[in-house]
Amino acid sequence: MKILVTGGAGFIGGNFVHYMVETYPEDEIVCLDLLTYAGNLETLKSVEDKSNYKFVHGDIADRKFIFDLFKNEKFDVVVNFAAESHVDRSIEDPESFVRTNVMGTTTLLDASKEYGVKRFHQVSTDEVYGDLPLDRPDLFFTEETPLHTSSPYSSSKAAADLFVMSYERTFGLPVTISRCSNNYGPYHFPEKLIPLMISRALADEDLPVYGKGENVRDWLHVYDHCVAIDLIVRKGKPGEVYNVGGHNERTNLEVVQTILKALDKPESLIKYVTDRPGHDMRYAIDPEKLETELGWKPKYNFDTGIQQTIQWYLDNKEWWQNILSGEYQEYFEKMYKEK
Ligand code: NAD
Repeated sequence: MKILVTGGAGFIGGNFVHYMVETYPEDEIVCLDLLTYAGNLETLKSVEDKSNYKFVHGDIADRKFIFDLFKNEKFDVVVNFAAESHVDRSIEDPESFVRTNVMGTTTLLDASKEYGVKRFHQVSTDEVYGDLPLDRPDLFFTEETPLHTSSPYSSSKAAADLFVMSYERTFGLPVTISRCSNNYGPYHFPEKLIPLMISRALADEDLPVYGKGENVRDWLHVYDHCVAIDLIVRKGKPGEVYNVGGHNERTNLEVVQTILKALDKPESLIKYVTDRPGHDMRYAIDPEKLETELGWKPKYNFDTGIQQTIQWYLDNKEWWQNILSGEYQEYFEKMYKEK
């Protein structure tokens, strides 16, 4: 099979490229990425010489480029990770999220339809369901939960999901969607909670925690997400949505405290900052459909996965220190003003 992985120089796409190149030497993996601030070819260094791997630089929203690429390459499968992915950035600049997340996805759908792609898989997020109240731990997102978004980011992802489903119904394109909870693991860009806290704690810098740190996220190791996507692409039913999550709910404060403890740093580094506007309270996924229909089972629980992840950041300082450029620092100062 020839598989196009878009956004493969980012966090989850990069981990997926590694997984696919190593697991399926007989398949051809083509990684397409625009290399925005979030894309990093260093993430793909260890696969770049593999004979079943190729990198293409380009924009999923560039119609002519995408159609030429699909015409020449004749992909069997498309897995779309490419996205603007950071909620805080979507509050600053919603339009770029519409361009990549909505128009980029429809461009890929059109090219997939035109050139007979056999499976189009959209990597979506549990954020399309909105949030759950903190005082109802019995509630979980299922595939039937209505879309009810809070941020420009989640709205753009929900819009893309609706387009994906409409291409199945209207044009018969074989599509699947996965909606996953928060991921953690290697190669995570250091603006996101876990790598941000690790890198700042190591430098004895303040750790900005939104509000009171009570917001709950359901964490899944990126490896388990990659396995789930591979399973859905190969065995999932066209036209279906699959939720992906491992029942690892933690408050943001608990996550930060775990990191401080593992790095032997004091809790006095924590600085509570003005809460994000529209901040979702709790995400919690019910992954039963994926477990019962496709036999998926996560390998990692959060307690062991987070320790391994912290160790990865300690062993790979060069990777994230290269990213912490002046431009990123300016953005950081602007976004996280102290209370
Ligand atoms: P990321 O920001 O780390 O990576 C996104 C990648 O897409 C980058 O390499 C970037 O260069 C590339 N890209 C951006 N615009 C592009 C364009 N127009 N054309 C081509 N490439 C472009 O994001 P991530 O955290 O790896 O998330 C990947 C996908 O998974 C996203 O679609 C996101 O919505 C979804 N998701 C993420 C999480 C999470 O916890 N990170 C959870 C669930 C779902």
